[in-house]
Amino acid sequence: MTKMSVFDLSVAGAAAALLMIFFAGACFGSFINCAVIRLTKRTGSLWGRSECPECGHALGAADLIPILSWVFLRGKCRYCRKKISARYPLAELLCGAGFSGIAAARGLSLTALEYAAAFSIIFAGALCDIDTLCVPNGIHLALAAVYLIFLPAQPDPLKCLLNGVFGFLIYGAGLLIFSLIADRILGRAALGGADIKLFAVLGLYFGPAGTLTVLIISCAAGLLGAAITKKGFGREFPFLPYIAFAAWAGMLFADRFAERYLGLFSA
Ligand SMILES: [Zn+2]
Repeated sequence: MTKMSVFDLSVAGAAAALLMIFFAGACFGSFINCAVIRLTKRTGSLWGRSECPECGHALGAADLIPILSWVFLRGKCRYCRKKISARYPLAELLCGAGFSGIAAARGLSLTALEYAAAFSIIFAGALCDIDTLCVPNGIHLALAAVYLIFLPAQPDPLKCLLNGVFGFLIYGAGLLIFSLIADRILGRAALGGADIKLFAVLGLYFGPAGTLTVLIISCAAGLLGAAITKKGFGREFPFLPYIAFAAWAGMLFADRFAERYLGLFSA
């Protein structure tokens, strides 16, 4: 796979490229956020016209510029002046940052495209989990499909597939057994089924060693998040946003960490 780092371009060119990628990511974030809201609240069709969530007024192009429209309108609808949730610009910002982080780490490569697609799907899953504490199986299936679509483009597809399937089985079966035991001890669900399924699919992407990095980061982020928000101890809370963050971090550097673990074992 040919890989061109964005830093091979001039600094100004690289900054412009990253800004464009950020904007594309923010547009994706906007679409994903609205789609999740429409699907979970079952209001309107997925591809329907954008409208104000408060007054239902159709939104024009000037109202739909990611992040900027919300900032310039000071978080209010242009037509009814009611407050628009900060969730809209936040989702756009996070998805934009996610995309540009991937591009900065992976260059303008097929890997970056694969990771951007995977990140978008996990991002949608995280929003579903926040809204409903439930993640549709379509998220896991779509992630697996993206992995399979890009598999033939890997430098060594068979080795990549074996590594992926190994990761899938270890984290799918391992976390299922762990969660069954933990459920018994705690007397409640320790890990959601959607979390286990997601780790299994991430096993495909990152293999056994890389997924361990993702697992460690998501547990650390989850504990930190639960401590800061004072939610999550003793009751169900959305864990997928933390796994999404960890998976994104994994897309940036899990393979480098994995090489180090393997280096440790072989030394
Ligand atoms: Zn309105």
